[in-house]
Amino acid sequence: MTTPEVILEEQGLRDGLQTLKIIIPTEKKLEWIDRLVGAGLRRLQVTSFVHPGLVPQMADAEALFQQLHKREGVVYSALVLNRKGVERAIAAGAEHLAISVSASDTHSQKNTRMRLEEAKADFRQNMRLARSHGIRVRAGIQCAFGCRYEGAIPAERVLDLIRHHLDAGADEIALADSTGMAHPVQIRSLVAHALELCGAVPLALHLHNTENKGLANLFAAYEMGVRQFDTAFGGLGGCPFIPDATGNIATEDTVHFFRQMGVETGIDLEKVAAISREVEALTNAHLSGALYKLSAQAPML
Ligand code: ZN
Repeated sequence: MTTPEVILEEQGLRDGLQTLKIIIPTEKKLEWIDRLVGAGLRRLQVTSFVHPGLVPQMADAEALFQQLHKREGVVYSALVLNRKGVERAIAAGAEHLAISVSASDTHSQKNTRMRLEEAKADFRQNMRLARSHGIRVRAGIQCAFGCRYEGAIPAERVLDLIRHHLDAGADEIALADSTGMAHPVQIRSLVAHALELCGAVPLALHLHNTENKGLANLFAAYEMGVRQFDTAFGGLGGCPFIPDATGNIATEDTVHFFRQMGVETGIDLEKVAAISREVEALTNAHLSGALYKLSAQAPML
């Protein structure tokens, strides 16, 4: 296989499944993880170590990690929000974590019960703890492009958080449009500054399609030089603490979009789409992604 020019990190198992009303059994999740790796995905956020009472869909995080059939060269990541989460992830043998703070004070309080300044101090400690156990950390900034509670988020605040994360030793930086409020002109501007700050540290974008601008934003970031994006099978996803948050950009749609433009992701769209169709059948509801439906019916250009 040729080396992918763009890396997609599959978020369906975490960002995606946490939005479903049904609980997917651990064995099924493990099967999907294996199939996604078989489809060519090399980075997967497989779960989160968060309070099982708040996110019951992720209550099996430890069991899932214990039973992962880890494959060489594949990153199996987990999301954590606090120290307890880092401790659980260490005990479970996680090698890669996503730790983030929200650029919105209000969202931060709802999501973690901490104000931004507290969350920054907490982040540093969590980062230190994770790194002292040899864990690589992707340091995220949620609501980087806007907040449903606060509206516009000043770019300078996001850039300050990037400096903060880099200073704390982040292995990667991820900017999340958790609310789907970003637009391509804003992406261009913020990403230009972010890339300058990041230097050799990879920058990833986590885009939600709430306002239907996901792929436009993806393309703007791609043109600026971003080569790492989060996607979710079927376009699943959403944050329980953001009103009307909807899915991530769909893995299948992104693979197809890039392929049409001659950009290789190394991912077999049809193998991913088969999982989306299973979720559709299990939930008895259409998912927001487009290509998993089309690919079942007709060949694509
Ligand atoms: Zn998300």
